Amino acid sequence: MMKTNIPEYIKFEQAKSQDLNINGLLPIKALPRLLDALPHGGSDVHVEIHSDIDVNKRLVLNTQFKVSAGLDCQRCMDAYQHPIVSQLQFLPIFNEEQMELLAPEQEPLLLEDGKINLFKMIEDELLLSLPIIPLHPSADCSVKLETISPKASQFDILATLKN
Ligand SMILES: [Zn+2]
Repeated sequence: MMKTNIPEYIKFEQAKSQDLNINGLLPIKALPRLLDALPHGGSDVHVEIHSDIDVNKRLVLNTQFKVSAGLDCQRCMDAYQHPIVSQLQFLPIFNEEQMELLAPEQEPLLLEDGKINLFKMIEDELLLSLPIIPLHPSADCSVKLETISPKASQFDILATLKN
């Protein structure tokens, strides 16, 4: 059994009628699609979810997810830990037509049979937060970026064109 205080599903009505305050760790193995995308695994996900009512009197979820993702640096090819912090406000919606109701800072969250799938929300968001090209912070990378003067690089380009 996986030990976590984070439920996979919450009923929309329940989230609306009582304050939702979730603060806990979700084992990364609960998120298999995310785990598949990480060549070197990842830490447990630190999850904070607080319900609120927005200016239009709708239920919203203020969320913060943190994970350390084991990726390969595309400059030096070494494995490294990439910290990801995602902070978003989700607006649960019943159908895709309700997407139009979203404020610019809100993310749609499509309900499944009147339920919020928290694991899917967390997993989708973290997948979208992965870097397209994973790179070490340059100070930690074993490949040092040389400062190439613009003159030299232009010369190199000309040399290549001549060959
Ligand atoms: Zn590197």
